[in-house]
Amino acid sequence: MKAHRLLASAVLLALLVFSLGYSQAPPDKADTQMVNRIWEEAVNRSRLMKDLSYLTDVIGPRIPGSPAMKKAYDWAAAKFKEYGLENVTIEPCGPFGLGWSNEYISVHMTAPSYCPIVAYPVPWTLGTRGKIIGQPVLAIIKTKADMAKYKGKLKGAIVFTTPPHPTPPVYKPLARRLSEQDLKQIIETPIPIKPADKSSKPEVSWDDLVAYYRTEGVGVLVESSTGRSDYGTVHVDAYEGNGKDNLTPGQSPKIIMAAEQYARICRIMDFQVPVTLEVEVRSTLYDKDRQGYNVVADIPGTDKKDELVMLGGHFDSWAGGTGAVDDASGCMVVLEAMRVLKALGVKPRRTIRAAFWLGEEEGFYGSRGYVFTHFGDTDKKILEKPDWEAYEENWRNPLGDSKKIIAKPDYDKISGYFNYDNGSGRIRGIYIQENFQVRPIFEEWMKPLRDIGVTTIALQPTEGTDHLPFDYIGIPGFQFIQDPIDYFPSLHHTNQDVYDHCSAEDLVQSAVVMAAFVYHTAMREEMLPRKPLPIPVERAK
Ligand SMILES: [Zn+2]
Repeated sequence: MKAHRLLASAVLLALLVFSLGYSQAPPDKADTQMVNRIWEEAVNRSRLMKDLSYLTDVIGPRIPGSPAMKKAYDWAAAKFKEYGLENVTIEPCGPFGLGWSNEYISVHMTAPSYCPIVAYPVPWTLGTRGKIIGQPVLAIIKTKADMAKYKGKLKGAIVFTTPPHPTPPVYKPLARRLSEQDLKQIIETPIPIKPADKSSKPEVSWDDLVAYYRTEGVGVLVESSTGRSDYGTVHVDAYEGNGKDNLTPGQSPKIIMAAEQYARICRIMDFQVPVTLEVEVRSTLYDKDRQGYNVVADIPGTDKKDELVMLGGHFDSWAGGTGAVDDASGCMVVLEAMRVLKALGVKPRRTIRAAFWLGEEEGFYGSRGYVFTHFGDTDKKILEKPDWEAYEENWRNPLGDSKKIIAKPDYDKISGYFNYDNGSGRIRGIYIQENFQVRPIFEEWMKPLRDIGVTTIALQPTEGTDHLPFDYIGIPGFQFIQDPIDYFPSLHHTNQDVYDHCSAEDLVQSAVVMAAFVYHTAMREEMLPRKPLPIPVERAK
């Protein structure tokens, strides 16, 4: 080959490389300087714990449709405005159902000896008709024969409906961080194999039992707290009935009692010694405004302002504690991440939108509503009208028998959604929901966060919270890997879910990581890559 031809080839090659490089997006690289600025603001001028305290200590637990929930919406909207965010909206997310609040509970054992009792009402159940004074009846109903046995015997009674729950010593530590070994296990993605169907239906369904208690006219139903319920921890949510509780009016009054006290009363009854209990519960159901609402706020984008990056947590809670770890923590991480970005005067390319979702605990009402309103749904409306029983049966196929996704225009304009809802433990990485393509991008973004513990990308999906409605229809939606600390089994859905058990250092770290992730997503040349879907996407006209 002659020299001038060699030279020509080299020039051609250089041109080719140059033009290839030019036509492709620049490689992903973390903006270390911006991460440094986020860190400086978030660590030195944090508002997170003050905001968390006001929301949980002053406003308290947030059952959808309750006056407290309404107060929380207004407080959040004012906070977003105070921190300089724009387009602050309390936005309807579709019908929710009944609201509920508890105003009063008082439970005492007055014979054979006096003992004040720790107990909490179950959301959406009615209050008692005044103070009930009487002997408890232990009536565990599982079969039709049990129903017949107690027929006509429970009118106005204090009915113990569960066996006592043992509280043996637990030798495991209450709180823990994810070890190197734990993180390694999270990375090792299990290959999904359909498990054998072991489900069996109870002889008496939840609906039948609710109807039975109502017809029998029970005074109040009492359950022992279950799960890890030692040292006065009371688990109280309303999971029975596939989360329908918020739709069923007139459910008999039901309270959950501390396990040790419930067991003590059962032991006294075993001696055939009379027990006298006093129980009074006052609750209110609200049926005027059955609409659910999310609170959303923006930092508007610049050259790509029509495109979105979203971050969120759920604003509702159960009512045993104040919903501090689940999920006021998530919302305050989101609020703080937005405050920090705004305080730094960030001008993101895409619009960054924060969302506080309603009704996650009852079935992702807020996030589902937002996704089907703004981005789309399937032809079978699996987001608008989810069938949770079918969902349980459709292994790895949340779209059920939908034939297509009907996408709204904004479907093609949302890059990604980042969720925070696994307690107040610091972020150790991210679950990427089997989206292989985001791994190299997130790896780069995580490099400057390594020294604050963010090291792990898990390909496997994680379930159970508000990133799912996005994920179901193909929008990149993620939940972070968080240190469990004492979330399970001591805080989640218990009376101990309070400010005191939120870890300040973990939440500050989480706000830094959240801000860094949404910032990089907002500044990236391209939107985040999407994973393949099992059905086609049709653009709505
Ligand atoms: Zn939660």
